[in-house]
Amino acid sequence: MQLPGKMKAIMKAKPAEGAELVEVPVPKPGPRDVLVKVQMTSICGTDVHIYNWDSWAQGRIKPPLVFGHEFAGEVVAIGEMVTGFKPGDFISAESHIPCGVCFQCRTDMQHICGKLKILGVDTQGCFADYIALPEVCAWKNDKSMKPESACIQEPLGNAVYATLAEDITGRSVAVMGCGPAGCFTVGVASGAGAGKIIHVIKHEFRREISKKMGSHIIFKYDDPQLVDKVMKATDGVGVEVVMEMTGNQLAIDSGLKMLAKGGRFTAFGIPSGPIQIDLSNGIVFKGGRILGINGREMYKTWFKMAGLLNSGKLDPSPVITHKFPLKDFKQAFDVMRAKDRQSGKIILVP
Ligand SMILES: [Zn+2]
Ligand SMILES: [Zn+2]
Repeated sequence: MQLPGKMKAIMKAKPAEGAELVEVPVPKPGPRDVLVKVQMTSICGTDVHIYNWDSWAQGRIKPPLVFGHEFAGEVVAIGEMVTGFKPGDFISAESHIPCGVCFQCRTDMQHICGKLKILGVDTQGCFADYIALPEVCAWKNDKSMKPESACIQEPLGNAVYATLAEDITGRSVAVMGCGPAGCFTVGVASGAGAGKIIHVIKHEFRREISKKMGSHIIFKYDDPQLVDKVMKATDGVGVEVVMEMTGNQLAIDSGLKMLAKGGRFTAFGIPSGPIQIDLSNGIVFKGGRILGINGREMYKTWFKMAGLLNSGKLDPSPVITHKFPLKDFKQAFDVMRAKDRQSGKIILVP
C-alpha cells in the first residue's frame, strides 16, 4: 500500500489550554512497531486533563505532542522485527508501554512497569490518521467486531480488571461514579453474574445508560440518606464489593461506610491530591481491604474482555453517546467538559 507522506493530527502544540489541528509527517514505524491507520479513537479523562492544561498536565506533558491513546484501526506496515502482526490486522491498543526488563515486568506485572510510559502522554498518540505503536501494545481483534466496541477496549479493560480482580459472582456490588468507567463497571459486574448491583450516580443523563448496562438500584451520590438506603437494600449487611471509580471525597467516604465487614473496596478513581479516609472504621475494624487498580493486566484482562464481548454477556454500546469527525475535536471536548455531562464515551473518526 502506498502511504501518504503527511497526515492530520490533533496536537497540544504549546503549553496552554486547547489543542490544534495540524499536518504532520506520517510516523515511521521502528523495528518493533506496527503502523496503524486509525479507524476510530475515543476521548479519555486523561485527554481532557491535557486539553485543559491543568496542573497534572503541566507537570507531565511536553508539547508538542499528538495526544490520545484509545483507538482501533488497521495495521498498514510493520517494522522488520515484528513477528505477531501483519498488514490487514484489525487491532486495538494497550496504552501502558512496559520496559520489559524491570522488577515488575519480570514478575508478571508489566501493566505497572517501574519505568512505565503511557501512549499519547509520554509518546505520540492516536488523535491522528496514523500511529506507530510498539508491537507489545497491539491487541488483535476479531474482524467481525464493531469498530466502536474495538475502540473503547482500553477504558473498558480498566473496568474488566477492576471488577474481576477478585470474585464477583453473586456478590452485592456498589459502583461509585457514572462516568464511562463507572458505567462500564456496571456492565462488567452484570455480565459476570454479580448479585445486587447498586449504582451511585451524579449526573441524571446517565441514569438511562446505567439501567441499560444492568444496574438494579440507582441512588444519587449526594443523597443524605445514601448509606442508610444502601444498608437497607443489602439487609443491613452492606455491599461486599465497592467499586470506587470517581476519586471524589464524598464518594470515597460513603463507599467505605457502605462496605460490608470483610468486603473489598476497589480504589480506581484518582483524587486530585492527598485525602483523608476513616481507615479505622472503614477498613480495619471491618477486616476489609483496599485494592488499588491501575490499567489492565497485560494481557489476562484483554482475554477476559474478549470472552465477555464475544459471548454477548457484555455490550458497551449504551455508554457510547457521541461520534464526531476528528477535525471537530473542539466541539467534542466541549460536549465532554459540559457541566451537566450530557454524554458518555465520545468517539472521534479521522
Ligand atoms: Zn483512557
Ligand atoms: Zn518494566
